[in-house]
Amino acid sequence: MNAEIIGIGSELLLGQIANTNAQFLSRQMSYLGIDVYWHTAVGDNKTRILEALRIASERSDIIITTGGLGPTMDDLSKETVAEFLGLEMVIHTPSLKSIEDYFRSMGRVMTENNVKQAVFPKEAIILPNDNGTAPGAILEKDRKIYIILPGPPAELEPMFCKYVIPYLEGRTGCRIYSKVLRIFGIGESAVEEMVKDLLLNQSNPTIAPLAGSGEVTLRLTAKADSEQTALELIRPVQEEIEKRLGNAVYGYDDDRMENIVLDLLKNKGLHLALAESCTGGYVSNLLTNVPGASEVFLEGCVTYSNNSKKSRLMVSQETLKNYGAVSAHTAIEMAEGIRKTSGADIGASVTGIAGPGGATAQKPVGLVYMAIAGPNGTKVMEYRLTGNRQRIKSGTAMRLLNCLRLYLLEQ
Ligand code: ATP
Repeated sequence: MNAEIIGIGSELLLGQIANTNAQFLSRQMSYLGIDVYWHTAVGDNKTRILEALRIASERSDIIITTGGLGPTMDDLSKETVAEFLGLEMVIHTPSLKSIEDYFRSMGRVMTENNVKQAVFPKEAIILPNDNGTAPGAILEKDRKIYIILPGPPAELEPMFCKYVIPYLEGRTGCRIYSKVLRIFGIGESAVEEMVKDLLLNQSNPTIAPLAGSGEVTLRLTAKADSEQTALELIRPVQEEIEKRLGNAVYGYDDDRMENIVLDLLKNKGLHLALAESCTGGYVSNLLTNVPGASEVFLEGCVTYSNNSKKSRLMVSQETLKNYGAVSAHTAIEMAEGIRKTSGADIGASVTGIAGPGGATAQKPVGLVYMAIAGPNGTKVMEYRLTGNRQRIKSGTAMRLLNCLRLYLLEQ
């Protein structure tokens, strides 16, 4: 079977967004053993969408459209596919109910035009949208498959993985299983270099590197007739990668760094307290996003000013005067101060220059110190990050969590 991806949206043609949905879908289709022969992009214009559908239906077995499922008049995808196939549109009651529920859960009022998002040809297989309002759909007609997906990648990608892959596996008889390795502390190009020979010789499983926000992931995907066979194919490759990357592999699949740190604290029966300066509570926020964090996370203080560092954490005036608030000495005293005053087993601190102001020749924007104080002494680390204020804050938070993870692995 071969496929064509039609990106619908004038933003694509105006160069306002890159067609990353086509890239994502092409990669997924290749895992499924389906050849993608064409990528098409068309604006929000009914005549041209009809033309694109006509051409695609003449040359492709599977036609995937992305975008144009919103509630407004210029969102035309579904209606145009239905018109092209000569199908009548009706309200799909379960979808209408989930859209109503979605608005209720967000505390927002649903407007009349959102009903449009629940209207489908009655022959459609509905693809629920677990991350937004617009459901997708699959239609089969004249031995062709039409898959209609929303535009936002955060909605399209999970919908494709959860609902479209199982459908296509059923059609192709080929099943795919993936395992994602989550890597932190080694950049994307260094990771690629370290596993270059594996990347060059990959077949089954395939290995796909992907750079995320501040981390790198490797997705190993195996084609097999059962999950067990797939895992057996994946295991040796995974083990080889882990041997090379060591404990830079921090987790798998949907693991998050904060969950890993909290699990390590729980397993080791240790309690944590944080003193944050430049991250402004970012690390505490990540930790407290995880249910059950209170079992091991005692407190997080945003000690932003020098006075707060002195009064709350007992950082000495001399240290601040001689070395400055952004220094290894201050980070150490902050970590030891929060440990002592909170009664936690482990006290961790972070202080740095998030920018854009506040830098000097010796202390550039992005300079960050973090320290971890525990029963066996105190460790201090220095980092130099780049990017805007937000990126420096989030990157610093991830680094502190990673330092905590590595520290806890040694306890
Ligand atoms: P909504 O329900 O949010 O209106 P939609 O299904 O109607 O979604 P569009 O309005 O076409 O989708 O696009 C919404 C957003 O999705 C775009 O602003 C863009 O950020 C993203 N998007 C759309 N198409 C693509 C694409 N091909 N690749 C990457 N991002 C895309």
